[in-house]
Amino acid sequence: MKSFRKIILENGVQGYETTRRILARLPDVPVEEIPDISALRRPAADPALWLAESKTTLLLALQKGPFWRPCPGTRDYVCCGYQTLQVTVNCPFDCAYCILQSYINLPVTTIFVNIEDLLAELDQKLAEDPEKIRRLGTGEFGDSLALDGIMGLNERLIPFFARHPRAVLEIKTKWHDLAPLLPLGPNRQVIFAWSLNPPAIVRNAERGSASLGARLKAARQAQDAGFRLAFHFDPIIYFPGWEEAYRDTVARLAAAVSPEAVVWISLGALRFLPALREITMTRYPSCRFAAAEMVLAPDGKLRYFKTLRLELYGRLREWLEQALPGVEIYLCMESPRIWQGVFGASPTEAELGSRLDKRVVAAARG
Ligand code: SF4
Repeated sequence: MKSFRKIILENGVQGYETTRRILARLPDVPVEEIPDISALRRPAADPALWLAESKTTLLLALQKGPFWRPCPGTRDYVCCGYQTLQVTVNCPFDCAYCILQSYINLPVTTIFVNIEDLLAELDQKLAEDPEKIRRLGTGEFGDSLALDGIMGLNERLIPFFARHPRAVLEIKTKWHDLAPLLPLGPNRQVIFAWSLNPPAIVRNAERGSASLGARLKAARQAQDAGFRLAFHFDPIIYFPGWEEAYRDTVARLAAAVSPEAVVWISLGALRFLPALREITMTRYPSCRFAAAEMVLAPDGKLRYFKTLRLELYGRLREWLEQALPGVEIYLCMESPRIWQGVFGASPTEAELGSRLDKRVVAAARG
């Protein structure tokens, strides 16, 4: 994984356990102190000029707003009611399609170190409605494992979730090193989830992340340690030879894990805000997918044409159902028409949420 060249400390972070741990693990990295993030240098208007720098500069800051936020669903698309915990923003990997490239406005990767406040907030929110099932994840604004070696967050969250039987933590990642976390299993409240793509996409478009083989090996280790698993074919990318490449990826997944350990698999075709197309084409000239023919969808994002999305989802659904019988497959942020075309019916948001909640309860029982 890429190493950091500089650490910036926002005033007030010095007393936190996470800060001490990170500084102890990166003893040779120069440290700069600033009064607050408003003192950070504003980068040039063109993000292509500073995004690489954001991957090697670490900002330790305080989360002053809530950690817990509903997943930013999109009007006109079926949302599953997922809840996110914003513990980091940005990540040391560098995916060509990463939506954060058009979202972040500071040349840093941020870790919020006030984890004690996160745990207190979780305790309070979970106690407000103890019977409600909660699906929570830390992988919305970064990768849930990429910074864990220095941050140690999951070593604190995994035992925490063991005490809350109606909540699950989904640790979404493209990384593979689970060594410090495996002894914390079995824990059925924790779902390790990998984003999957064929090796050619991983190599060309997911810089710095673990290979497909390493991700699948880690998934098997998590299963054997007594954790539940999930997988996200997201973004599914169309390229010449996609059928063979994705079919082979599904076969490798089925050879690596047992269907009974898999709580859900989501499918999401490539989509991004128009500004990202330019950024990707500048930063990744060899990634031709950014130049694909796409349509501006009602949510303001560029998406593949419906016929192509139907084809991508339909084939993946077929292969996954054959390879991993009984697994729950859902579409991430898709329109009712696409749901109808792929599954013959479109769930309401409440129905989709309830389907996934049932998987949580079943997974918790074992
Ligand atoms: S792993 Fe996720 S957050 Fe990190 S660069 Fe890739 S898409 Fe972005």
